[in-house]
Amino acid sequence: LSKEWLRGESCDPGVDVDLAALDVRFLAGCTALRLRPGDVDTDAGSLPYDALVVATGARPVRLEALPDALEVRTQEDSRRLRDLLVQKLRLLVVGAGWLGAEIASSAAAAGCEVTVVEAASAPLQQALGREVGMRTAPWYEQAAVRLLCEQTVVRLDSGRAEFADGRSIPVDATVVAVGVRPDVGWLADSGLVVDGVVPVDAGMRTTAPTVWAVGDVCRWPSRRFGRPLVVQHWDHALRSPAVAAATMLGGDDEYDEVPYFWSEQFGRMLQFTGDRGNADRLVWRGEPGDPAGWTVCWLSGERLDAVLAVDRPRDLVQGRHLIAAACPVDPVRLADLAVPVRAAPR
Ligand SMILES: Cc1cc2nc3c(=O)[nH]c(=O)nc-3n(C[C@H](O)[C@H](O)[C@H](O)COP(=O)(O)OP(=O)(O)OC[C@H]3O[C@@H](n4cnc5c(N)ncnc54)[C@H](O)[C@@H]3O)c2cc1C
Repeated sequence: LSKEWLRGESCDPGVDVDLAALDVRFLAGCTALRLRPGDVDTDAGSLPYDALVVATGARPVRLEALPDALEVRTQEDSRRLRDLLVQKLRLLVVGAGWLGAEIASSAAAAGCEVTVVEAASAPLQQALGREVGMRTAPWYEQAAVRLLCEQTVVRLDSGRAEFADGRSIPVDATVVAVGVRPDVGWLADSGLVVDGVVPVDAGMRTTAPTVWAVGDVCRWPSRRFGRPLVVQHWDHALRSPAVAAATMLGGDDEYDEVPYFWSEQFGRMLQFTGDRGNADRLVWRGEPGDPAGWTVCWLSGERLDAVLAVDRPRDLVQGRHLIAAACPVDPVRLADLAVPVRAAPR
């Protein structure tokens, strides 16, 4: 919704599953309002359950100062933005995280005049840290996108965006992409929500005996990284439900994936795997700016914890295997482009 489809380069996504053949009753347009033991109150009445999976995902964070700004979460949101992009207008994107970067990149490719405002001092700083995020800043200039870091928008008024430092620019449309929060409003009095997420155990079980949680909404204990993780990416949403289903049926399966995520921005493919939360050192493979791509690896001690590969998919795949294997790696070999990542273990 922020890449090919937003640029009008792919056809409508659809759900290719015969739910009736699976004997699944699908209640479209039905909202869960409250969870009680054994029942969910919905706007279409009460639904009893023996076992329940919370999979309500996350919703975009809204900025009070920008109540009329657009957001991109649903197909409808993306369609609305696409209709604007074809007008080649002046677009303001608030937030240079994964989503903001993709929207800015798509809008620039569509011929819009794009400005990106980011509160941190570098794009992707929250996801990758300042040092790595900074390496993506030149991509904006190369695509003729104006990037304003350490800046916030305080008001949108009469077609002008006003910034915290008093400057203002004319804009035709504004998109806010400053992150998401788990969609847990309907669980408010369920006792399942802690710090805005639904914590689960390694079998995706919540603290209620008949309730499981998967995907963006949950926080799970990563044994591999020794800390709880909230992963709001597709791969986790695809893999965590299989473990929930297995443990619901009495299995003792455990979820301990190496997280994986990809992004396309400014003509580059970015792939990230692992968790950099415990890392104490960075190892670079190749020079940022090299058209053949570059990779950066995060290590804790001699253990490979995370990899970002820019146009180097092999590094990513091999790095993910090494992270899963948790074997000690030689940082010198890891930095050597002549040595494949898979040959970096000591
Ligand atoms: C524009 C965009 C681009 C993205 N790009 C990438 C990418 O490149 N790579 C990647 O890995 N990830 C990407 N993501 C993230 C990825 O889409 C999510 O991690 C994934 O969809 C999460 O799946 P989920 O099933 O947990 O939640 P969702 O897909 O959000 O599904 C939750 C569903 O629950 C419904 N719901 C919520 N509350 C209620 C309620 N009370 N009652 C009934 N229904 C309810 C919602 O309407 C929604 O249909 C992107 C997300 C967006 C928005």
